[in-house]
Amino acid sequence: MYNNVGSKVKTFASISCIIGIIASIITGVTTIIAGNVLGGFLTCAIGAFASWIASLALYAIGHTAENTDMILKRLKNIDTNQTNSSINENIEIPKYAQTQRPQAKTSETTSGSWWCSCGVANRNSSNTCSSCYKSRPTQK
Ligand SMILES: [Zn+2]
Repeated sequence: MYNNVGSKVKTFASISCIIGIIASIITGVTTIIAGNVLGGFLTCAIGAFASWIASLALYAIGHTAENTDMILKRLKNIDTNQTNSSINENIEIPKYAQTQRPQAKTSETTSGSWWCSCGVANRNSSNTCSSCYKSRPTQK
């Protein structure tokens, strides 16, 4: 029922615009026939213009919804592609961990190096920090 909302809204916008213009013309012509020529023309013009503006806004909403649907579909495709191959998923995690590393320095032990509590990475071969000369913290 709510599939393709965007195109439905767009169709609804065009239909309501046409209905609005027709309705204002009918109202305007009736007003002219009734004797109020200026009021009739104004009803025609303003009514048609108002329905066009209103449908334009509605059309824009529909267009945006349609575009969003398209973007979401593409994103979903990307997601499924990534879950299908676990390699891609594994690529994402180190990227995230890399940016997070400065905060997690003290507890993290990368292969071949250890982090001093002062925040400096040291080689596993040396047991004292190259920056603050503290001894390497004992780890399990
Ligand atoms: Zn240190």
